[in-house]
Amino acid sequence: MKWLGLSRAIHPADRKGTAGLAIKPLSGFSRVTIPLDMQVGPGCEAIVAKGDHVDIGDPLGKPLGSWSVPVHASVSGVVESVREQILSDGSHAQYVTIISDGKDTVSDHIQKPVVTDHASFIEAIRSSGLVGLGGAAFPTHIKLNPPPGKKVDTLIVNAAECEPYITTDNRICIENADDCIAGALATAQWCNIDNVVIGIEDNKKDAAAALKEAAKRAKREGQGNVEVKVLPTSYPTGAEKVLINLINGRIVPEGGLPADVGVIVQNVTTLWFIAQYLKTGMPLVKKWITLDGGAVKTPGNFEVPIGSTIEEVIEKAGGLKAEARKIIMGGPMMGVAVDDITRPILKHNNAILVFTEEEAILPEESACIQCGRCFRACPMKLMPAALDKAARANNTAELEERHVLNCIECGSCTYVCPAKRYLVQNIRIGKALVRAARAAAREKGGKD
Ligand code: SF4
Ligand code: SF4
Repeated sequence: MKWLGLSRAIHPADRKGTAGLAIKPLSGFSRVTIPLDMQVGPGCEAIVAKGDHVDIGDPLGKPLGSWSVPVHASVSGVVESVREQILSDGSHAQYVTIISDGKDTVSDHIQKPVVTDHASFIEAIRSSGLVGLGGAAFPTHIKLNPPPGKKVDTLIVNAAECEPYITTDNRICIENADDCIAGALATAQWCNIDNVVIGIEDNKKDAAAALKEAAKRAKREGQGNVEVKVLPTSYPTGAEKVLINLINGRIVPEGGLPADVGVIVQNVTTLWFIAQYLKTGMPLVKKWITLDGGAVKTPGNFEVPIGSTIEEVIEKAGGLKAEARKIIMGGPMMGVAVDDITRPILKHNNAILVFTEEEAILPEESACIQCGRCFRACPMKLMPAALDKAARANNTAELEERHVLNCIECGSCTYVCPAKRYLVQNIRIGKALVRAARAAAREKGGKD
């Protein structure tokens, strides 16, 4: 069966009530617990031990491979423990817990990076510990260094932030528009990319206006050209393949990379961070998150140390006004429900949603009525009902035939289904089945 390409969108209520609230730094955290694996690909191995003193920005781990990025201390204090924990996928990760000394002392080792060419830029980005801050956790130095032979002509800056509730990218654009533009232009310069286009939805008027003004200033000052493209608000505009198609009409082939069609996509906060890092040399030790949901007393946008717990963030932001029945890391469409409030904030987390009983009710699913709404809503032109059925039947051949790996897990099918079928949940399982079947075939010498 041929894959049909891209289209379609849905329009969930955006619930971006925090869009007008400036990012507020939270401080005074008693401790942080920092996993040494917060990225796609292998993480780090600890280089600190119990009892060591660390300052903000000191490295805690040594990268385990070329994809790995270092992990740094986000508070100053004493290492309480370095422990190993088994993750849900069976892999192991080390966690470093630091008891804060309350002084927030910055490491003496922090220095502005020296960048003179593409190689030194990539090395600087890697040293900063940066991964995609839009939620993907893909190592930025890998994304900015496409395989040889792939000519990239366009850097697309993803400022779409189409998930309901989340507003941190919007605030970063409003509060730091000049540095968003500077980070994009520096990246384009050192990666030899001719065009820079920012994609932003038309429900973020203040952010779009701030970016346009900053782009004009940069052009006037001879720093370079950045086009700001305002797109109609819909979901999932911010999905990489969808955004590329909306910005320049190109379609990333099945199983391919944006670089296959001459594009690199970077989240706007990631590029803003690059501008900060080039100016200061301070690695990624803080995260910007939206805290929202009916149970939260004071919803808002906050800057917190990486490794601070969900529990302490909620408490410092003002606490709860109702019992928390469901906590989601990320947005309601693509986020992950968590049942442990001592879980740390990771590099790629961008929201904590705390829902009341009423908001948390998961409707009972009923039989598929074959209405076709899920198919009409799917931006990847897949057939979610058929994928759901194949996943429930462990039918990997059918899942392959129906291109399950093209699913971007946007949740649009589940959102529109009148029978409340758990579509994206089962399709996610279907993707895992296909990956496992492919790995088994490879092991037996079969063809991928
Ligand atoms: S939207 Fe739901 S009920 Fe309609 S075809 Fe898809 S799975 Fe079936
Ligand atoms: S979750 Fe997957 S199958 Fe469902 S609408 Fe999104 S891309 Fe399509």
